[in-house]
Amino acid sequence: MKLLITGGAGFIGSNFIHYWHEKYPADSIVNIDKLTYAGNLNNLKGVAEEKNYRFVRSDICDQNETLDKAIKNCDVIVHFAAETHVDRSLNSADEFLRTNIFGTYNLLCYAKKYNKRFHHISTDEVFGSLDLESKEKFNEQTPYSPRNPYSASKASSDHIVQSFFHTHQLPITISNCSNNFGPYQNSEKFIPKAITNLINGQKVPVYGRGVNVRDWLHVEDHCRAIDLIIQKGRIGETYCVGGLTEDISNIDVIKIVLEEMNLKDDMIEFVTDRPGHDLKYAVDWTKINRELGYQPTFDFSTHLKTTIQWYLNNQWWWQN
Ligand code: NAD
Repeated sequence: MKLLITGGAGFIGSNFIHYWHEKYPADSIVNIDKLTYAGNLNNLKGVAEEKNYRFVRSDICDQNETLDKAIKNCDVIVHFAAETHVDRSLNSADEFLRTNIFGTYNLLCYAKKYNKRFHHISTDEVFGSLDLESKEKFNEQTPYSPRNPYSASKASSDHIVQSFFHTHQLPITISNCSNNFGPYQNSEKFIPKAITNLINGQKVPVYGRGVNVRDWLHVEDHCRAIDLIIQKGRIGETYCVGGLTEDISNIDVIKIVLEEMNLKDDMIEFVTDRPGHDLKYAVDWTKINRELGYQPTFDFSTHLKTTIQWYLNNQWWWQN
């Protein structure tokens, strides 16, 4: 198979490239990435040297021969490229709307030209926020209710992808996953920020009182889910992907990190809450389990420890 990955120099995209190359070494991979502040070619050491891997520096919003050719020559597009940090979208959403909405539309136009299989990576944040006490989980029928510019731009991109299925019969699938964790995640994000601050002897900023609850998905489980959708997913369908976490609050996550690093609660610094901070995400992954046999394997607390170890062992990667 010939894969075209967008955003393959980012956190999940680069993990996916490693995953795919290891599992299907004969397949070819073209990685299109603009290399924004979030893109890092150091994530791809070990694959970058391979004959069947090629990196192309390009913006997914460009309309040019490079994108046209790359899409013409692939079998499947796996679209990760996006602006992804909610906090940045609160300061200015320009790039979020441009990349996440227009960039996705632009790729879809090329995909339509050559009728290519298109898998779109999205987020559970498009569903909005659950009450803290709620036992409800997001599923494929949950109405969209995004509450910040990042999630609104992702929601918009999901609708555009769906529209290309309904109007142009483009063979698409979408996955809406929960918060990922694991190696190669930019230290601006919650878990790596906590770990890297603590390694550097700095306190960990926690929004509000840290009560917000997330559904944590190890990036390797996410890669396995995408693999299943590409190989066996029903065209036109959406799949929700979650992890093995049961209702863990941000403050509890930080307490595990502190314990693992032999540090005390005085390294926590509560800071003014993020405006419109979603209280709780929880994902029901019954559909992908039932239809495609997806089962997460990485439990949160064990793999939080391996993630801490990764950041300790790979300071060359993030200290710069
Ligand atoms: P990331 O920010 O780590 O990486 C994004 C990558 O996209 C970077 O390499 C960047 O250079 C590239 N990029 C940005 N704008 C581009 C453009 N205009 N043209 C080409 N490349 C561009 O993101 P991530 O955390 O790996 O997320 C990947 C996808 O997964 C995103 O679509 C995101 O919405 C989705 N997602 C992420 C999470 C999570 O927890 N990280 C959860 C749910 C969904």
